[in-house]
Amino acid sequence: MNYIGAHISSSGGVDKTVLRAVQIQATAFSFFTKNQRQWFSFPLMQKKIDFFRELCIKHTFTPQQILPHSSYLINLGHPIDDFLKKSRASFIDEIIRCSQLGLIFLNFHPGSHLNKITEESCLLRVSHSINIALERTQNVIAVIENTAGQGTNIGYCFEHLSEIIRNVDDKSRVGVCIDTCHLFAAGYDLRTEQDCENTFKKFDDVIGLKYLKGIHLNDSKKKLNSRVDRHESLGLGEIGKLAFKWIIRNNNFHDIPIILETVNPIIWAEEIRWLRSQRKV
Ligand SMILES: [Zn+2]
Ligand SMILES: [Zn+2]
Repeated sequence: MNYIGAHISSSGGVDKTVLRAVQIQATAFSFFTKNQRQWFSFPLMQKKIDFFRELCIKHTFTPQQILPHSSYLINLGHPIDDFLKKSRASFIDEIIRCSQLGLIFLNFHPGSHLNKITEESCLLRVSHSINIALERTQNVIAVIENTAGQGTNIGYCFEHLSEIIRNVDDKSRVGVCIDTCHLFAAGYDLRTEQDCENTFKKFDDVIGLKYLKGIHLNDSKKKLNSRVDRHESLGLGEIGKLAFKWIIRNNNFHDIPIILETVNPIIWAEEIRWLRSQRKV
């Protein structure tokens, strides 16, 4: 079974996401558990938590179908200790929010070295941050997203993700989310069936498909290996529709949330419908 949806706005409260997802006939969704551009957020209100949980049950969304995204401010590999501390505290707060909502995943971008430390020590910092967060929380799986490799971001190659996982103590609570736009911008081709097969074979060899907990399905405005992160609607970018069709038909990607972060929310319902139709053709 494919779970397909989009990154839904949580403006007005997290409880608002569920019906917005239903409106576009999504069977999966993601959202920010708090304002993604601010350090401070008030704790979730019990009323909102209860309402979110009730609506999920009513509309048959299980925790496997929901992939919350953490704030963009968090840098778990920050080279400066004060900022690293702040990032870790914020990350733990987000995991707790997910737990309160009955959810089991938190998707995040691994971090940036800011030209102050090597990639290797940045990766190690990320692993330590994950270890600290997992020790202080329960149930939620830390889901690392691959990046386009823009600026000083780490996590643009499978080796980085596998290195982060290698240094995480509790392997049962760490996973990966693959963003197809980031993947392509980082130099992994997806334009033909053979490219898709090669890329995901490499993923399996270097990381292991068992770690794949979600997919962000985006076309890319920028060219292969551009290292620039610009999402595009499916089929309107440099990747083209074939890759998305290939993913939807591949049994390896069943039972994980497949999330659109494409640039035009007005056509999300249409994109979801198109993806579903590709399963049978
Ligand atoms: Zn992301
Ligand atoms: Zn993404």
